[in-house]
Amino acid sequence: MKKIVSREIRLKARPVGIPKESDFEMAEVTVPDLLENQLLVKNLYMSVDPYMRGRMNDLKSYVPPFQIGRVLEGGSVGEVLASNNDRFKPGDVVVSSLGWREYAVSDGDGLMKIAPGNVPVQAYLGTLGMPGLTAYCGLLEIGKPTENETVFVSAASGAVGSIVSQIAKIKGCSVIGSAGSDEKVSWLKDEAGVDEAFNYKTTGDLVETLGRLSPNGIDVYYENVGGLHLEAALAHMNTYGRLVMCGMIGQYNATTPPVGPRNLGYVVSKQLRMQGFIVMDYMDRMPKFHSDMSKWIAEGKIKWKETIVEGIENASAAFIGLFQGKNFGKMVVKL
Ligand code: NDP
Repeated sequence: MKKIVSREIRLKARPVGIPKESDFEMAEVTVPDLLENQLLVKNLYMSVDPYMRGRMNDLKSYVPPFQIGRVLEGGSVGEVLASNNDRFKPGDVVVSSLGWREYAVSDGDGLMKIAPGNVPVQAYLGTLGMPGLTAYCGLLEIGKPTENETVFVSAASGAVGSIVSQIAKIKGCSVIGSAGSDEKVSWLKDEAGVDEAFNYKTTGDLVETLGRLSPNGIDVYYENVGGLHLEAALAHMNTYGRLVMCGMIGQYNATTPPVGPRNLGYVVSKQLRMQGFIVMDYMDRMPKFHSDMSKWIAEGKIKWKETIVEGIENASAAFIGLFQGKNFGKMVVKL
């Protein structure tokens, strides 16, 4: 077979604060010949996700840090071009964690074959992929909302938040979402069907806004942001409320330790439960999640937005954009 040159993005320097273009570099590698049991994947779309920021620090965490000078990793959807592996054949579409590169050689471990049907393949990086599973498991298994309860979601128009908001509606809850632009707020109300939404950048006092929009208090807070959002949620949580601690994107680029919520004492007085989780622990829920989500999509109960950036040369800009709210829904890069 003719030699293929693959472009890939490597970590050049560990970012300080918001990542910069100069923290990344593009390199070209020649794809090696396939050995026994190996297959060649041409990536069609790759995902950029907020959690990758944590992996750019040299800190011990639930996944090892990215290494300087090495290709980054992340979710991708690709097509099998050639295969010496019995489990895969050319034309198969697979989800892998071999993103940030145009082509990948794999022994098949960790690859999941998909049959996209009526949804675009990149949905497997968003609504039907890791972010969707995060929304589903975090809300239903930790938040455990019941009918008529009130759910507050931050970063509500994003990949995770938009799905949390709509699953909460499916479960008969009243939903309040926050987002960083009027356009996102309109989409949440007009398309995603949430009951109330506000622009946290222009609303003024978050505690006051949230109090006005949640006259019956909040039973479940789905936390994606941290900081003042968490304080506002704590102020209005009902007794025995649940806080699903999914992420704190507002703090991922902090260069000094952020100040904790000043009203954390409400956890005691309101008898709240606050639980963090990592979606990797919930991978065995994938079949049930796919079955429920596919049904809801077919019924028109789940909608989503996506921002598609073209070309691997723009992948680092797409990633940086996550911290500036440049994405509307799931951010993916088309390769
Ligand atoms: P999104 O699609 O929501 O994109 C990130 C969004 O966060 C931006 O569009 C922006 O929207 C908002 N944002 C960025 N910076 C800030 C800030 N300083 N303050 C407030 N909002 C900000 O990303 P995901 O849906 O992929 O991720 C959402 C959260 O879920 C993240 O915290 C992520 O780390 C977490 N997560 C956790 C997982 C787990 O296993 N626990 C798995 C996957 C995700 P806006 O315009 O509204 O400001």
